[in-house]
Amino acid sequence: MAPSYEAKLSQDGYTYTKGNGLVGGLRTYGVIQPERKIRQTDEGSIWEAIVIGAGYAGLTAARDLVKAGKKTLLLEARDRVGGRTWSAEVDGTTFEMGGTWVSHVHGRLFAEMERYGLKDDVSMTRTENGGCDYFTLDTGSGSRKFTHKEAGEMTARAWRIFIDIDGNSGRDICPLPYSTLGNFRVSPDKVKAVDQLSCRDRIEQIKDQLTADELALLESLVPHCGGGSVEDIGFLEMLRSQALGGYDIATFEEIWTLYKIREGQSTLARRIFDDAVRLGLQYSFKTPVKSIIEEQGIVSIITTSGEKHRAKRVVNTIPIAVLPDIHFDPPLSPLRQEAIKINQVDYLTKIHAEVEGDLRGLRGCTWPGDFLYIYGDGFCAGGKSTRITSFAGDNRGKLDPLKEPERLETALQRFHPMKIKKVVFHDWVSDPYAKAGAAWYRAGFLTKYLAELQKRHGNVLMANADWAHGWKGFIEGAIEQGALAADTVLNEVGILGANPAPGEYQRESRL
Ligand SMILES: Cc1cc2nc3c(=O)[nH]c(=O)nc-3n(C[C@H](O)[C@H](O)[C@H](O)COP(=O)(O)OP(=O)(O)OC[C@H]3O[C@@H](n4cnc5c(N)ncnc54)[C@H](O)[C@@H]3O)c2cc1C
Repeated sequence: MAPSYEAKLSQDGYTYTKGNGLVGGLRTYGVIQPERKIRQTDEGSIWEAIVIGAGYAGLTAARDLVKAGKKTLLLEARDRVGGRTWSAEVDGTTFEMGGTWVSHVHGRLFAEMERYGLKDDVSMTRTENGGCDYFTLDTGSGSRKFTHKEAGEMTARAWRIFIDIDGNSGRDICPLPYSTLGNFRVSPDKVKAVDQLSCRDRIEQIKDQLTADELALLESLVPHCGGGSVEDIGFLEMLRSQALGGYDIATFEEIWTLYKIREGQSTLARRIFDDAVRLGLQYSFKTPVKSIIEEQGIVSIITTSGEKHRAKRVVNTIPIAVLPDIHFDPPLSPLRQEAIKINQVDYLTKIHAEVEGDLRGLRGCTWPGDFLYIYGDGFCAGGKSTRITSFAGDNRGKLDPLKEPERLETALQRFHPMKIKKVVFHDWVSDPYAKAGAAWYRAGFLTKYLAELQKRHGNVLMANADWAHGWKGFIEGAIEQGALAADTVLNEVGILGANPAPGEYQRESRL
């Protein structure tokens, strides 16, 4: 089937080949050209809403606002939509550079896929009976082969013991994971006590119950999920994600690493954007925001090129790791500033490779190592080579893909011998508009700061997957945040143009 869009060159992403070395910029359906559409008559006017950021949180908010007739401007630093979720088209093959996998438990995301005709248009990462149909495990003394069933059972046993801190698979500590602290089933003190544990602390409690292989699989699965070290990731983070997934490791693959949008995530992001434009959204890409200033209820947005845009309400979707670059006046609350200073801990590296031959059935784990997990991820265009997807945890200071791309090849070879044609990746750590991966936090962070991050700042609604109520650090959480922020704006500046007097709809934000 012909793709819905033409892939255009973005400044984002890299390919590495032995012949050409490292080359910046990849083609994607997410690039928006022309990059700016603001009606002359609206330049300089006060917008009902400005949305900063065209990731899933910003796209959802912008679409919901224009659908309700609000005069809305979208400002985005990059040349494309999607933020930390985007797909590149390289020689006819789709590569997911950031957010990838979709799941039936992500209801808001599936609702968007349904709305834009993509709910049935999914493909699978796993190929049954593909070439190299086994799991390789290398814990330092060479690679050993297991069946997928054997590896799955070892991982599941280790994970169940790890999660089972309350003897009820996390149900007693996290009975209502959208409301970790504020629910009536468990006392906040109990949750706070668990939140003091890092994943390392929890592993120390249970490691004697595990075999050496189970321990290696657990120690690598935690950074694979959370993008940081077992020392840096808080245990409550893992418990909460398990609770959101239904308390059962048996559904882990279906939720985390199985289904993808066949045409790529940028197709969905693009359809939301195009729908919003059809409904009147105005926008400016390649427009980084520098300052957010509120005076007498009106918010002024100053861009790095010195432009000023004013609005009654702003939906700010800039991720936590980038917020220190933004000047706020009035300043953010001391507690929020403290949270931003501590920041998140996900510095995940995700690398794709096109390799010769059929390795579609391959999976593997190396621990310790430069790369943690590998997935055979279907054939590349032409059906003679395989797309490999691989993850490392926080590799800062250990393996910089921009400085030593040739070492990526060596790291991948440790999983399995392979002839690599090209490597494709996005370096999220050096990306000035992400500065990190999906958001995971240290022990003690959730119970102290999450509620503060979710609060509004005057007439600026803060909306990002990094502090979602539910699927924090997922596409689902971004859509949740965009939808909630748009709803708050609509309640305050009036639905369908019926603007109330200032203050009439003032109420504590639901964000
Ligand atoms: C490697 C990786 C793998 C992942 N895998 C999955 C997965 O499989 N499934 C899943 O559900 N989730 C996954 N995630 C998480 C998911 O991608 C994110 O949670 C989600 O995309 C965040 O969306 P958002 O809109 O909240 O933030 P973002 O996507 O970060 O959007 C924020 C937008 O703001 C823009 N911006 C930043 N600074 C400025 C500025 N100064 N001025 C103007 N604009 C600015 C950015 O360019 C960006 O477009 C993954 C993330 C990464 C990095």
